[in-house]
Amino acid sequence: MSKHQYDLIQCMKQPGRTNGLVCLNCDGRCPICDSMVKPTEEAKICHSCSQGSLFNKCILCGNYLGANNENSIPANYCFECVLFEKHREGCPRVINVGSNKADLIFKNKK
Ligand SMILES: [Zn+2]
Ligand SMILES: [Zn+2]
Ligand SMILES: [Zn+2]
Repeated sequence: MSKHQYDLIQCMKQPGRTNGLVCLNCDGRCPICDSMVKPTEEAKICHSCSQGSLFNKCILCGNYLGANNENSIPANYCFECVLFEKHREGCPRVINVGSNKADLIFKNKK
């Protein structure tokens, strides 16, 4: 299920009211499990991920979304992540892109 989490660190702060945005490449991907199946609920990101230099970046891959997010699509959690309430765990924005910090994940995992 959570096949991508082994090499990605997610923010996991308390989500605010801002919709998470993804780029065209990440359109339809669940921010938690990467599933493209049954997008169910809009993903919300935390306050610090919705401002400054992060405000117009894809929450999954960090792609630039345009000055006013004109190339963005709202991120949606898949049916399964909503069903198991994984979407309540926190802000889903990916902090590191790539696997160079993979070992940190294990320390942060419960
Ligand atoms: Zn999912
Ligand atoms: Zn965040
Ligand atoms: Zn992206």
